[in-house]
Amino acid sequence: MMAKNELIYLDNAATTKVDPLVLEAMLPYLEDGFANPSAGYGPAHKARHAVEEARKEVAELIGAEPDEVFFTSGGTESDQLALSGALAAIGGCAGRSGSVIVSDELEHPAVRNTLAHLEKTGQASLIKVKPESNGFIGASALSEVLEGRGFTSAGTCKNGIISIMTANNEIGTINDMDGIAGVAEQNGFLLHSDAVQALGHIPVDVSRTGFDLLSASAHKLGGPKGIGMLYIRRGTPFSSMSFGGGQERGIRSGTENVAGIVGFGRAAQLAGNRMEEDRVYVSGLRDRLISRICAEIPDTILTGPACFNEEEKDRRLPGSASFAFRGIQGSSLVIRLDMAGICASTGSACSASSGKNSHVLSGIGVSPEYIGGSLRITLSRGNTPDEIERAADIIARSVADLRRLGNYH
Ligand code: PLP
Repeated sequence: MMAKNELIYLDNAATTKVDPLVLEAMLPYLEDGFANPSAGYGPAHKARHAVEEARKEVAELIGAEPDEVFFTSGGTESDQLALSGALAAIGGCAGRSGSVIVSDELEHPAVRNTLAHLEKTGQASLIKVKPESNGFIGASALSEVLEGRGFTSAGTCKNGIISIMTANNEIGTINDMDGIAGVAEQNGFLLHSDAVQALGHIPVDVSRTGFDLLSASAHKLGGPKGIGMLYIRRGTPFSSMSFGGGQERGIRSGTENVAGIVGFGRAAQLAGNRMEEDRVYVSGLRDRLISRICAEIPDTILTGPACFNEEEKDRRLPGSASFAFRGIQGSSLVIRLDMAGICASTGSACSASSGKNSHVLSGIGVSPEYIGGSLRITLSRGNTPDEIERAADIIARSVADLRRLGNYH
């Protein structure tokens, strides 16, 4: 067993450690600066000011105006609010048998399950775009799916919503959001994107890419859990589905999580300043890990763009490497790694707890001999080259042990 401080944390897509500078910024708002920002006295004005400063920081990271940023409790709420709020507003405008939502099989459950609910309750009909086998959702596949259905972009009415994630949480693939935004515009659709895994790690710029709605969450970029944001482009039709005291300009009611918001603002500022440096460093670690695992463990696939595919390697998130090993169970591998002091997962934190095969890996057609043997490694600026070497040694040894125990030849 390893000593506690030797733990190697390789599950940064599940959540990240709160950056010490983020914690430092938050603490005053959990101590004396605890006032409710809607109240009418000095300490409350201070809290309000802190919330608005944080809104500017988050807006700056995505190239938005501060009044286009709405704080929520996290990525899940943002996805749900984006889809149901926009759908409610365009419902009366679509002029067909109802609104259409176009999405894909690889989305996070926050989107998938919201869409399933909207379909089940008759609020929308769903069209799914098939992913490519390397995990990308192609703009041309999207365009083909919409072709011939008679959608036009005439007038201000929207035909529906396209919801496609910026980067995938299990396999780290980064979609061509510029191309997808072009197809959305041509066909008269709003574009929502779940950018939870992308924000702070790769550039996401709403002033350049035609996102109408964008969801993000602070705990994936060194901020605290329980705070997220929804970007709504000015002029986007939107009827809030959050009722209460009317905070966040009526879009998302509830007393603001001031310390969380301040933490999100600081995390966004730090991520913006460090993005390029971190990208180079973290993707260097990722590539070293990928090349060792692919070279040293036979019968391995890198899910998403394949091993040693130089052309597509930067269409993967800087910290993301996910594998499938033939002939073993990913859950047994994760237990072995845990015993050796390594935190990693079989897929997303949610799919790991359900014990089911990942919908992402089935969605991209990973074969039955491999699909149960998945391992997701997600790195951060806090990892070191030495950790990567140790992790590669331990993973190779553990896969070999499990194969031996399972009589794999
Ligand atoms: N969307 C994606 C792509 C995610 O990876 C996650 C979290 O894992 C979420 C949404 C949900 O975010 P939150 O945990 O803030 O609710």
